[in-house]
Amino acid sequence: MLLSCNHVLCGSLRPLMDWKGEQSMAKKQFQAESKRLLEMMINSIYTQREIFLRELISNASDAIDKLYYKVLADEQQEFHKENYFIKITVDKDNRTLTISDTGIGMTKEDLENHLGVIAKSGSLAFKQENEMKEDHTIIGQFGVGFYSSFMVADSVTVISKAYGSDEAFKWESEGADGYTIEPAAKDTVGTDIILKIKDNTEEDQYDEYLEQYRLKAIIKKYSDFIRYPIKMDVTVE
Ligand code: ADP
Ligand code: MG
Repeated sequence: MLLSCNHVLCGSLRPLMDWKGEQSMAKKQFQAESKRLLEMMINSIYTQREIFLRELISNASDAIDKLYYKVLADEQQEFHKENYFIKITVDKDNRTLTISDTGIGMTKEDLENHLGVIAKSGSLAFKQENEMKEDHTIIGQFGVGFYSSFMVADSVTVISKAYGSDEAFKWESEGADGYTIEPAAKDTVGTDIILKIKDNTEEDQYDEYLEQYRLKAIIKKYSDFIRYPIKMDVTVE
């Protein structure tokens, strides 16, 4: 199988490709820029970690927008407003926080192309140009996107089923060392982003991201303008 990557730096960074074919579980490497941004975020002493939720909710909302307009424009389809929402699920026992949406979903290729690279986010270039020292200034002000999940999560699992497709896929990553993609089961179109929240350490507290009151406050602060309902489910011990 011929391996191709259109990023100039990628040849040497992607040694472990899926030579066994489509379903292979070989771990793939993030593209160079993504890897650097990821490391920058994971390693910075960070005061605004909470913005990860803003980023994930804004992605969920964008995905719902895409499906919403598609369905609205299609005379063949019935439109039900109540089908479009974002759901936050907390499982304290398993330390997971899940952000689900009923949006357009991602195909296997989308997962590969959109979550394996940082395409539009200009934050790294901005930082270099302006020689800004404080990471949190950049991260707080600009959309850094999906990767900000790694500021609070040891691992991130994305399960998605794209509109018009009958198969679902699971994308999984523990951060800078790459990601895997494999077939998964999911009944409905849309995306679940499952964050395995980090354990507290002496210096850093993460338990708060499993607390309903805290999540509500973050949503109120950053996502008040989102025009789809944001529902919350909590499993208590
Ligand atoms: P941006 O939102 O600026 O494009 P992100 O890093 O936040 O950057 O997201 C990268 C891409 O991943 C999005 O543009 C979108 O294509 C895809 N994506 C992320 N989250 C979702 C989601 N919940 N549903 C569908 N696609 C998503
Ligand atoms: Mg985004």
